Amino acid sequence: MSEVYFASARSRKWNYVYSLHAKLIEILKRIKIDTIINKDEYVAIKTHFGSDGSFRVIRPYFLKLISDKVKDSGGIPFVTDTRRIKTLEYLNVAHINGISHGNIGAPIIMADGLYGKDAVVVKSGPILDRIAIASAIYDVPSMIVVSHCKGHIQSGYAGAIKNVSMGCVCSDERFEGKKVSRGRLHAVDERSIGWNKSLCDFCEQCILVCPTQSLHNIDGKIVRDETCWMCLRCTRVCPTGAMYGTMSQKEFQLGIAEAAKAVLETFDKGKVLYINFLLDIQPECDCMPTCDVPVVQDYGILVSYDIVAIEQASLDYINKAIPLPGSYASDKEVSKGNSLLTAIHEGTMPQLAIDKMEEYGFGTKKYRIIEIEKLENK
Ligand code: SF4
Ligand code: SF4
Repeated sequence: MSEVYFASARSRKWNYVYSLHAKLIEILKRIKIDTIINKDEYVAIKTHFGSDGSFRVIRPYFLKLISDKVKDSGGIPFVTDTRRIKTLEYLNVAHINGISHGNIGAPIIMADGLYGKDAVVVKSGPILDRIAIASAIYDVPSMIVVSHCKGHIQSGYAGAIKNVSMGCVCSDERFEGKKVSRGRLHAVDERSIGWNKSLCDFCEQCILVCPTQSLHNIDGKIVRDETCWMCLRCTRVCPTGAMYGTMSQKEFQLGIAEAAKAVLETFDKGKVLYINFLLDIQPECDCMPTCDVPVVQDYGILVSYDIVAIEQASLDYINKAIPLPGSYASDKEVSKGNSLLTAIHEGTMPQLAIDKMEEYGFGTKKYRIIEIEKLENK
């Protein structure tokens, strides 16, 4: 049975030591973060920078607390993500979301470089064959995976496994491009993305949301050019289903797990720590151009060295929570007792990726929650 530390977002006493900040500091003390860090070693703090319009990312001060702890332990932290939109624009997005060197006290870098091309291609397995891992992730000896847990239209649930897989894979590998990059995880190949004219009302939402300006309305047709990197964002915003991406959910979840395995195999055993934030649990990914209200109440922060245990605990919590009135969950008439995220995102199977990670040997679904009430010895 694996240990999962838990800091509740509830504050029952109006004293700093009971704050979520203080409880996270206490957990980082207890979890002995120095065991994953050697002196003067670089440590990646992998998170998601969000987007312009989607503000429910992890609050920068939490990243600062984690970064400070790495420094106290002798490590040299940097905060990182892979390219979602053009790199400099994405770094500006990080800045507007408060993720800056000034706020956090650590450099903010793109793990896959200025053009999203810097990566090392590794063998992964039967679904993907090979995948390109962002070079900063491939090379760094230890990593703290800081994930905002929420829903996701394609995977149902997005937390640590998705952060490690999609989030650590480069966006457009230098020599083989989309064949081994993130698009490979979203869609099996280019032919998987299609457009059905008879369903299209030409609202152009797909064109507006495309991060690479690859879609064009030409002579009454929505045309996709070769710059597309297959992120499938256009298919997610299309209100009519005219723009679609085909991939079996089973294959998608197993692909996610396979990529996560490939990434984690670049680290020595015990050199990765996971911190899951169950706050602002909204229905969609932070890469979308907006965000919705949370579908369930804030829960708190989970911390573990076991990716399987922490993901199972996070999903269990969300699925058993009471859907919030006025949220997307109530629009979908999800009632308590339903598996909340799969009821919201019908047809998704997020449990499958967790099961596969357990089968790969990265942890166990059996977990023990250790709740931290307050900061001791401030
Ligand atoms: S979002 Fe869908 S309906 Fe709107 S233009 Fe694009 S394909 Fe057509
Ligand atoms: S999948 Fe759609 S949104 Fe993504 S890059 Fe290609 S055309 Fe643009």
